[in-house]
Amino acid sequence: MEEKSIFQMILDKEIDSEIIYEDDNIFSIKDINPAAKVHLLIIPKKRINTINDLQDEDKDLIGSMVLVAKELARKYGIEESGYRLVWNTNKDGGQTVYHIHLHLIGGEKLREF
Ligand code: AMP
Repeated sequence: MEEKSIFQMILDKEIDSEIIYEDDNIFSIKDINPAAKVHLLIIPKKRINTINDLQDEDKDLIGSMVLVAKELARKYGIEESGYRLVWNTNKDGGQTVYHIHLHLIGGEKLREF
């Protein structure tokens, strides 16, 4: 059986982390190594290793993750100042945890690219 992801361990309370949002399919935590003043991770409860593994049946889940990100941006007061939503994929994309997650980053001016 595939090893549990660190996010699955957080969800199963095997690792301590404050869950700042949770519904039936999605949860969110603060990134342990923040890239900006606000850095949250929006994570599906279903384990999907990378964006490459998405199936048609995951469309609603992905849409819901973006809507959760939007709500959290509002809750953390960065909807007007702005923010970035990022999905890192595989090595060149900088993915380190192979359980997809959406980064919500903001609270300060981000470097342009
Ligand atoms: P990525 O590099 O896109 O796979 O993102 C994984 C993110 O998970 C990184 O930004 C890490 O800082 C973050 N991370 C790893 N372990 C933890 C943890 N225990 N709690 C919160 N965030 C974590």
